[in-house]
Amino acid sequence: MIRLSELALPLDHPETALREAILKRLALADDALICFTVFKRSYDARKKNTEIKFVYIIDLEVRDEAAVLERFAKDVHVGPAPDTAYYPVATAPEGLKERPIVIGFGPCGLFAAMILAQMGFNPIVLERGRNVRQRTQDTWALWRKNTLMTESNVQFGEGGAGLFSDGKLYSQVKDPKFYGRKVMHEFVQHGAPDNILYVNKPHIGTFRLTSVVAKMRAEIIALGGEIRFESKVTDLLLEDGEVTGVELDDGSRLMSRHVVLALGHSARETFRMLHARDVHIEPKPFAVGFRIEHPQTMIDKARLGKYAGHEELGAADYKLIHHAKNGRAVYSFCMCPGGQVVAATSEEGRVVTNGMSQYSRKERNANAGIVVGIHPEQDFPGGPLAGVELQERLEAVAYQLGGCDYRAPAQLVGDFLRGKPSEQLGEVEPSYQPGVNLCDLAEALPDYVIEAIREALPAFGKKIRGFDREDAVLTGIESRTSSPVRITRDTQTLQSLNVRGLYPAGEGAGYAGGILSAGIDGIKVAEALALDMVRQWEAG
Ligand code: FAD
Repeated sequence: MIRLSELALPLDHPETALREAILKRLALADDALICFTVFKRSYDARKKNTEIKFVYIIDLEVRDEAAVLERFAKDVHVGPAPDTAYYPVATAPEGLKERPIVIGFGPCGLFAAMILAQMGFNPIVLERGRNVRQRTQDTWALWRKNTLMTESNVQFGEGGAGLFSDGKLYSQVKDPKFYGRKVMHEFVQHGAPDNILYVNKPHIGTFRLTSVVAKMRAEIIALGGEIRFESKVTDLLLEDGEVTGVELDDGSRLMSRHVVLALGHSARETFRMLHARDVHIEPKPFAVGFRIEHPQTMIDKARLGKYAGHEELGAADYKLIHHAKNGRAVYSFCMCPGGQVVAATSEEGRVVTNGMSQYSRKERNANAGIVVGIHPEQDFPGGPLAGVELQERLEAVAYQLGGCDYRAPAQLVGDFLRGKPSEQLGEVEPSYQPGVNLCDLAEALPDYVIEAIREALPAFGKKIRGFDREDAVLTGIESRTSSPVRITRDTQTLQSLNVRGLYPAGEGAGYAGGILSAGIDGIKVAEALALDMVRQWEAG
């Protein structure tokens, strides 16, 4: 297989043009090209007023591969394609009785369980929340009727935190073993659109993700796995520095010497339990801020110029960063084109925002977190759980400012910059449900965060015209940007630093940030765990 990169074609090119362009670029006769697939398709819209083109990376098979490779030996854009296929690292030994436990069924737990099931280890998944169908109803109850279900919401339940999301499926983690391809192939095999395999910034959207997750669950069960919903783990059973099982909230126990902790960043009582059991945990940096909303048409125009609204490009995104004079980095986070701001709390008396969209990204507003990085030593000194406590305090203030009924506090950008409470909305209508309460957001977050965001918004306005417009809406607060703790693990065994058999993984343990990286981490721990089980079995 040969890989050809940097093949540029106009946005509106007919399908046949791709084959023609490959033949021309490689100077091949038509019958010499056996087949090809698009490995990646991207476009570069950074330079204004230049023609936007699709740029392809193509994997292809030709009749005489060696001759073609030799002919292009000096061409950096032509070479052998890497093998990105996934090969299981182990098979469960016949007669193996022990079953690994996976706590949490977000993307990390989902992929850990899928890989373990595919290798024959019959995992048992314990998920505190409900299945996607019931969970969708529970989540809508908060958005429509101000009623929060603390065990079934945006954070907890089948599919984890990313279920009601934009479903962005890209990540900047290093992935030398191409685990990300495995994640994407599984998604496609279970109903995701196959363009996620090749578009530069793939996304799947909430609606499709829910059906994909339900199909993956069915496959794990068909392979011999088990998934127990409404099964919250409340304690770890330990013996001589080794995990031996878990206790559930109904008092029942489940024994295993191999347990994956794929908890997500909102499992605060579980973090507390782990700390009480002396599992090694340390505080880690995260970020806090607000969600900002603008008309999507404004973002499209600023980013794509005359190509705004082009069907092939879809709703435009952005990524911004500003280094403020007070030493803080302010950046856009989890940008959702054509989406909505969502209520993302899992606890009573707290307000948290995040963003989601459907696959079409056709909603009126663009939204993104505008957040400021904060650090344990400087901003929340204390024990391992000081970051959790800070999040809880800030989210409780946001609840008060929102009016104590799960509406979110909000302010117009113009008023925020002037330090004046907002009283009336402008043209931009906030999408947050169950609604917003206009106020002064300066009361919601520490002064250094407010100061940095006040400096950043006009700077962002210079990059995207209108970003700091008077009536853009800020909604608060964005506090669960990543986990405030790291449940530290050994770099080789991927087991907890001080509890053998325990595999901290995914976002909650501080080893992932986003759906794709959490899935990749789930695969990594599943492999490490499987190899350890096989070693123990062989050692008798
Ligand atoms: P989670 O997805 O948080 O899953 C953890 C699971 O563990 C939960 O289901 C929880 O119920 C369960 N659990 C916790 N404690 C226990 C316990 N004691 N017993 C049993 N079960 C337990 N990322 C992207 O890449 N793209 C996006 O577009 C995107 N949009 C997002 C939009 C929203 C609204 C939110 C909230 C997040 C979004 N994210 C997005 C982030 C992404 O969802 C997370 O990074 C990802 O889900 C982390 O995966 P995880 O499996 O590590 O943890």
